[in-house]
Amino acid sequence: MLDQNFNLSCLFCWARIGLFWNIIKIFSMSKNKGLQERTLVLIKPDAIQRGLFGAITSRFEHKGLKLVGVKMIGLDEAILREHYAHIAEKPFFSGVAKFMQSTPVIAMCWEGLDVVSTVRKITGITKAREAESGSIRGDFAMSVSCNVIHASDSIETAEKEVKRFFKEDELFGYDKSEYMHVYGEDERVL
Ligand code: ADP
Repeated sequence: MLDQNFNLSCLFCWARIGLFWNIIKIFSMSKNKGLQERTLVLIKPDAIQRGLFGAITSRFEHKGLKLVGVKMIGLDEAILREHYAHIAEKPFFSGVAKFMQSTPVIAMCWEGLDVVSTVRKITGITKAREAESGSIRGDFAMSVSCNVIHASDSIETAEKEVKRFFKEDELFGYDKSEYMHVYGEDERVL
């Protein structure tokens, strides 16, 4: 009787672990957007002034990423406060706000497999003069504040940031013919 109770409670315990595991799996699958993962990039005022839009954009194009949205936009106080909420209390925030409003910015939405982490890697670290050579900040900038682009730093942030800058009808789905040369067959079904 004791044995039977023990077996039953073990079974019950395993069933609960299995259920918990499946919930985690479903949750992480819903986060995995495969080829449809999207991220936000902003071409900052220093890059606009220095005529670097084409050179920066070509880095993403040559990498094989898909451009699904692009527009020029002047940042008002509200969008700036929302976008830079994580640095709002920093002493340099007012400088960043002034800089980001000194010209319009160009907002772009890029799509691809693991695009958020890939674009962050291509972007390079915040302090541009120490950013890795070959990265955009490493190759095009010398400053902490004037570091030519913004790129979303996580999948969760990217989802929010893309929605912040683009309405649904400003984003475009289309077949990118070069995908068969950019990704392997197994990756194209993800
Ligand atoms: P990142 O853009 O690399 O994700 P953060 O989110 O930490 O970096 O900061 C947002 C932006 O604020 C930076 O890209 C940069 O323009 C500016 N910034 C960050 N740290 C400083 C600093 N110490 N002094 C001046 N500007 C800064």
